[in-house]
Amino acid sequence: MLELDGALVWAAIEGGGTKFVCALVDERGAILRQMRLQTETPEVVVEKLCAFFAGVQLRGIGLACFGPLELRGNSRARYASLLATPKVGWSGFPLGEALISRLNAPLIAETDVNAAALAEARLGAARGCKNVVYVTVGTGVGFGILVNGVPIHGLLHPELGHLLVRPARDADGRSDGFDGNCPFHGTCLEGLISGPAIAKRFTERGHEVPSELPAEFIALIADYLAQGLFAALLAVAPERIVLGGGVGSVPALLPATRKALRALAAGYYSRPELSEHLESFLVAAALPNAGLLGASLLARALENCHRT
Ligand SMILES: [Zn+2]
Repeated sequence: MLELDGALVWAAIEGGGTKFVCALVDERGAILRQMRLQTETPEVVVEKLCAFFAGVQLRGIGLACFGPLELRGNSRARYASLLATPKVGWSGFPLGEALISRLNAPLIAETDVNAAALAEARLGAARGCKNVVYVTVGTGVGFGILVNGVPIHGLLHPELGHLLVRPARDADGRSDGFDGNCPFHGTCLEGLISGPAIAKRFTERGHEVPSELPAEFIALIADYLAQGLFAALLAVAPERIVLGGGVGSVPALLPATRKALRALAAGYYSRPELSEHLESFLVAAALPNAGLLGASLLARALENCHRT
């Protein structure tokens, strides 16, 4: 048992579609204690989080959560609530309010990908960059975006994972014949290249999902992913793009995506980052727990903010 008497401690919580990770951190961001739990119903998750932090007076809570998430700060009751999500039981759940009232501490929330972008920019693969796009390809596809060092959100937050992309065609002009798996858009980026979408593509044709993806399939995923990255590049002009997530970390995907991105740009975006410096522009994520670290950064910056 840790001795915490008088120590200044903060809560960092990363909420994902399959698991939550929570940690108690000190003023330097060192993790004092950590726990991982399954994403069950929101009531069960909140109960377990509160048990983990029980008996500790927190200075603040940083929450990095899957979305869509209400991030407008004009209503404490709705701040950090889940919006319409296919995740059963979570739509409309007031996660922020539940944590604030149960843990009796101020809270700041971000999307998991915006928080990961913050951590990679501060501590990881995009250190020194102020304009950063962080992309995760895993259970879902998410884009976190920092402009001038600040995660962007307005009406909602960036949702480029649902970008509608140009369907791949073979040499004879035939579409690849996959209808996607996004319940909202079918063949949006997430509907085509998320882990579950890849699995569906194989299983609906009666194949097992291979443990190692074939090269031509990697090239197909890279082509779709590069379309998303190119859209982000054109819209935000980041200094660096960081790629992470379970699918995003497949080693062959990064070079294939660089090649596809260069081809898509077709010489239009006349910066060396898109040609001879592409390897230092589109890079692999460096932090295995970027979301949690982002939550920790946010929590410890809380005293400079006005959120409650
Ligand atoms: Zn979609």
